Amino acid sequence: MKEKIVVLGAGIGGLSAGYFLAKTGKYEVTVLEKASVTGGLCASFKHDGFTLDYGAHKIYSVIPGVLDEIQNLMGDKLLTLPKKNSLFLRGHLVDYPLKLGNLAKVLGMGTFMQIGLGYALELARGILGNPTPKSYQEYMIQRFGRPAYELVFEPLADKVWGGPDTLHPEMARARVPASGGIEVILKLLGIKKETAETNAEFFYYPRAGFGDLPQAMVEYIEANGGQVIVNTDVRELARDGAKITAVRGAVDDKPADFETDYLVSSIPLPVLGRLLFGSDAAVLPSIDELAFRHLVLVYIFAEKDLLLEDQWIFFPEREYIFSRIFEQKQMNPELGPAGRTAIACDFTCNEDSWQWQASDEELAQKTIEGLVKGGFLKEEDVSGYYVTRTRNFYPRYDLTYVEKMKQVSNQLQEAENLLLTGRIGMYNYNNSDHCVDMGRFIAENLSAGRAPVDVWNELEQRVADYKIVD
Ligand SMILES: Cc1cc2nc3c(=O)[nH]c(=O)nc-3n(C[C@H](O)[C@H](O)[C@H](O)COP(=O)(O)OP(=O)(O)OC[C@H]3O[C@@H](n4cnc5c(N)ncnc54)[C@H](O)[C@@H]3O)c2cc1C
Repeated sequence: MKEKIVVLGAGIGGLSAGYFLAKTGKYEVTVLEKASVTGGLCASFKHDGFTLDYGAHKIYSVIPGVLDEIQNLMGDKLLTLPKKNSLFLRGHLVDYPLKLGNLAKVLGMGTFMQIGLGYALELARGILGNPTPKSYQEYMIQRFGRPAYELVFEPLADKVWGGPDTLHPEMARARVPASGGIEVILKLLGIKKETAETNAEFFYYPRAGFGDLPQAMVEYIEANGGQVIVNTDVRELARDGAKITAVRGAVDDKPADFETDYLVSSIPLPVLGRLLFGSDAAVLPSIDELAFRHLVLVYIFAEKDLLLEDQWIFFPEREYIFSRIFEQKQMNPELGPAGRTAIACDFTCNEDSWQWQASDEELAQKTIEGLVKGGFLKEEDVSGYYVTRTRNFYPRYDLTYVEKMKQVSNQLQEAENLLLTGRIGMYNYNNSDHCVDMGRFIAENLSAGRAPVDVWNELEQRVADYKIVD
């Protein structure tokens, strides 16, 4: 008889686990989702004649086998697109990743020379032996020099995560290729090319919208004897000693219990902590101290066929409220009506930030002002807006997060048949390809008879090496 596995959360993290577990043929898989739809932030949704994603999402991976898995699952539903993205600086678009030659044109010779000297200084320091960086700020200054840091990386990091001097260096490591100082400079000078490990030259995209990837996983799970249940309110995890034996709650407000042999969780750690320990004061402080940023997406609709030449553009400067803009129809023109387009502008903030407190109308107005000022849009072309807000999406690695996370893992591992996965579930700053890798790793190792705690510990080490490839 098949063993039972309940997976909490039907974002790409939970669904990947469900998909690979179902593929082993050894488990009866049930994925429980709180929302009325599946896919989490990798879903697509319909609005005003468009199919929209939650900001720019591409499929790319440098993890062996992950792209093959996705191609096997999706087949001819995938488009292959050349990547076109830029950074907007001082009123100009420059190539991203940065190249010094382009920066020189945009910044003028004086600033350019300063940046060059900053690099040279850090390079010389590096030859003498740099101390291990203690923060994101120190990491980036060592790698790019203070002038470039202050011009681009500091304001962008401040917008996305807040307070770069209080961020753990891991935040930089996950986003910046780990090549040596000279290699970075050669790439900046355009002498050495970026590699597929540091910069995707092409990527895959599901022609029906990014959400077709999680949807394909739902369909596979259901076609192979599993279930994916939405509108679930998980209220309690029943335990027999160290073993979780059932998930108790309601589906569509009707009581529902799910017996299980293993539990895989991709839901936020504080929620999981409360389900496991109630409000046990000894356990919860470290979980509650794990910081997250909220995500805001402002979609602007315009009476133009297309507005950009790039798929997405980064905006480090503080005068723009968004940190990135993305044009959905650049992925596939069929995702919106002819003669109209939609730009998704994303940024992050805290619960008490003015951006989170502001009305949709104010956010839309400030976003439109920014797009007009940047020369991407004329106000008279705007036909509407739509705002989405997601609490606690971006893990924010502060300087003590490693110790806090260790405590949290130790406490949660009291449950001997529990595993974590996904971006939110593992408190790991990652992309969907990493979520696919985590699901595959869990399924392969669990089905090989390994103890969940061993799989968990190895997975923690594995995710520590993940990199986001721009
Ligand atoms: C703007 C932006 C751009 C991005 N670009 C890319 C990109 O280009 N490429 C890429 O690969 N990735 C990209 N990502 C990252 C990608 O979106 C994430 O890695 C991925 O969505 C994480 O999936 P997840 O399942 O961990 O989390 P989520 O998508 O948040 O899923 C968690 C799920 O759990 C559910 N849930 C929460 N609480 C409960 C509960 N109590 N009970 C049951 N269910 C619950 C939620 O409703 C949700 O469906 C981007 C993200 C953003 C925001």
